[in-house]
Amino acid sequence: MGPDVSRARRVEDRRRELTDDFPVILHSPLTGQPVIVAEARAKRPGGGGTAWEGMCPFCPGNEAMTPPEVWAVGREDGPENGPGWRMRLIPNLYPALVETVPAPVSIVHEGEEAFPARGRHEVLILTPDHHRPLHRMDPEGVAEALRALRRRYGELCSSEGVRQVVVMVNQGREAGASLDHPHAQIFALPLVPPFTQSRMERFSSGEGCPICREIERARVTGRMVVEEDGWAAFCPTAPRFSYEAWLAGRRHKPHITDCGEEELDSMAVVLRRLLGALSRRLSEPPYNLVLQCAPCGQEGGFHFHWEVLPRLGRLAGFELGTGIFINSIPSTSAASALKEVLG
Ligand SMILES: [Zn+2]
Ligand SMILES: [Zn+2]
Repeated sequence: MGPDVSRARRVEDRRRELTDDFPVILHSPLTGQPVIVAEARAKRPGGGGTAWEGMCPFCPGNEAMTPPEVWAVGREDGPENGPGWRMRLIPNLYPALVETVPAPVSIVHEGEEAFPARGRHEVLILTPDHHRPLHRMDPEGVAEALRALRRRYGELCSSEGVRQVVVMVNQGREAGASLDHPHAQIFALPLVPPFTQSRMERFSSGEGCPICREIERARVTGRMVVEEDGWAAFCPTAPRFSYEAWLAGRRHKPHITDCGEEELDSMAVVLRRLLGALSRRLSEPPYNLVLQCAPCGQEGGFHFHWEVLPRLGRLAGFELGTGIFINSIPSTSAASALKEVLG
């Protein structure tokens, strides 16, 4: 064995050793689809398919069960990482992305080229109240949650190497939440996800903004659920999920950080009304609430919005095998059913 070969092997062994502990991004050679392999996620409470029945790590008094907070909202006095907060931002104990990786370049993972999943994966605990999900908070609570999410979105988007910040609330086990305590997840990604890329192509196609057009069309086709103070909540054309609804501003903006205080307050009112209607109509369904924004530092004609995806049925072979969704509730029926129970 020549010195070059043995050196290359040593480097490869070292890289392999380093990849054992942190998540990596692999791209499918068939579809180009990125996949994050994060072995540590299987160890999380309620992860790996087992229900978590122990003490809630997000409840006040159990702060020592989480990593030290990044920041908290509402704690007037008392030490950091103690009780007295209204919201707490913490690193995810079982991250899909990590800040410190051995190198920003490609590495070898199980013999294939991979990239370190460099970024941040955080949890915003939305309330000290274990039993008060977003759709049952008062308007001030929802507005405060949106303010905290906007703040962290801005902080992470301006961090080095971050290309996309994804914010979501998974409500209910069937929607992927491993803990019941109301919380949002925030991902700072080193790449632009395929969903954002395909949306960017639509926004920059030169045919006008598809969200602005959807708002106009929803008004005339009976798909508008509620429209007030510059915000529109509507059931989209071609919804993937029954009772899927989107919330967008009538003024076209690429990032949630482009919203001022008053806009955020009125967004909170409409979001709360929409989530409340879903919860009344469908008896507190599990749902995913996902914020869709432009890639960090880009505009590209993007119109930021929230997508609310009720999870009434499971994704099955057809959806996973084709990318085509079958939905049994037309948008107009969903919108009129939601309108009937608007608070
Ligand atoms: Zn709790
Ligand atoms: Zn628009």
